[in-house]
Amino acid sequence: MKEARKASLQVLERLEEAGFQAYWVGGCVRDELLNREPTDYDVATDAPPEKVQSLFAKTVATGIQHGTVTVLIHRQAVEVTTFREETGYRDHRHPGQVQFIKRLETDLARRDFTINAMARDRRGCLIDPFGGEKDLQSKLVRAVGEAEERFQEDALRMVRALRFCAQLRFRLDEQTKVALIRQKSLLRYLVVERVTQELEKLWATEKPSRGIRPLWEMGLFPHLPPFTRWGRVVGDPAIPVEEMDRRIGRWARWALFLHLCGVHPEKSKPHLRSFRLPAKDVEIVSSVYRLGFQWQLTPIDGRTGKQFLLTHGKEKLESALETAAAIHRWDAEEEEGMREALIRWQREMPVHHLRELRVNGRSLMEATGRKPGPWTGRVLNTLLKKVALGELPNEAEALIEEGCRLVQQDS
Ligand code: ATP
Ligand code: MG
Repeated sequence: MKEARKASLQVLERLEEAGFQAYWVGGCVRDELLNREPTDYDVATDAPPEKVQSLFAKTVATGIQHGTVTVLIHRQAVEVTTFREETGYRDHRHPGQVQFIKRLETDLARRDFTINAMARDRRGCLIDPFGGEKDLQSKLVRAVGEAEERFQEDALRMVRALRFCAQLRFRLDEQTKVALIRQKSLLRYLVVERVTQELEKLWATEKPSRGIRPLWEMGLFPHLPPFTRWGRVVGDPAIPVEEMDRRIGRWARWALFLHLCGVHPEKSKPHLRSFRLPAKDVEIVSSVYRLGFQWQLTPIDGRTGKQFLLTHGKEKLESALETAAAIHRWDAEEEEGMREALIRWQREMPVHHLRELRVNGRSLMEATGRKPGPWTGRVLNTLLKKVALGELPNEAEALIEEGCRLVQQDS
């Protein structure tokens, strides 16, 4: 049994021994019924949070005001949340009050979808008051209770619904879909970070198109941040959204999403920033998109290809290639041909990084008697290029000699 599951089972046992109810809930119950590996094993109990803290040696008060305590067992973290009822939702995001309760069914009723509103005890008994198991069999994402009300309480549930459809390859239940369309204007209350988080989860699925096609089909862009702040309308997708499914890299998926939304590569940075992506991702994705957009299907000679590899690195170029193949609709054979060339160039290069060079800044300074300065970087990069292209052996003596010659030229 997986360590994480074992740890959560120990939590259930300890809570029951102490006279409390304790269940696995939510995602892990759903995923095990689907024979999928759960990402984590959440526990729900009627024990108050302080009681949970006192029952275990190591705990962290993760979200104690909402009833969540993280229990640490053999370096595994198990989230234990006290049964709760949520009332008085504010700004379509947060519940106004949270009340700790004794009844499991009431706790399950606050959860978003039937497939996420099941619990299982340690003996394997399933508690499924809203027909979650049946919906799992019918592959349906259905809101618990009145879908419109549930979306009004928390607008994020609308985006989660689309994400679960993609992640599990499910469909939206018809009434839930109607409710989503009717309540879509509430999407404007979402904070961008949560939308981005859901998009990232989509990029990690096999077929993200299932989650993003509805953005167009249901007309969600005019309501959903950050698209609402772009100052322009997102038009029809530039290429079929399914093109995204065949490209599995996260960078390529971000780049293709921008392309689908009609963002020009030269304008990609501010658009990527609008998702509040880390600065490093903004840099990488924008250059992947630009490279992919410009990539032509003309034969590239090895020298040019290898210089490209040196400048951008293998990882980025592979993403750019995925992006290019989708944007320019290359067929599988053309894409494969390009990929093989990339692999061949990479293999033919004796070195790929400065750290592999048998010379460094210090040895160059010693050999030339020059003070440190930007010249070392320039000279080292020229040496790297020469070695990578097979024009110079990667041997200290030859490198120093050529380095000294370059230094004279440099000054
Ligand atoms: P995964 O972790 O695989 O993304 P999950 O179902 O575990 O999926 P989490 O976001 O980890 O999703 O939430 C755990 C559980 O909490 C859910 O299964 C659901 O029961 C409940 N839940 C989470 N977010 C909401 C929400 N916005 N509204 C109602 N219930 C929610
Ligand atoms: Mg989870």
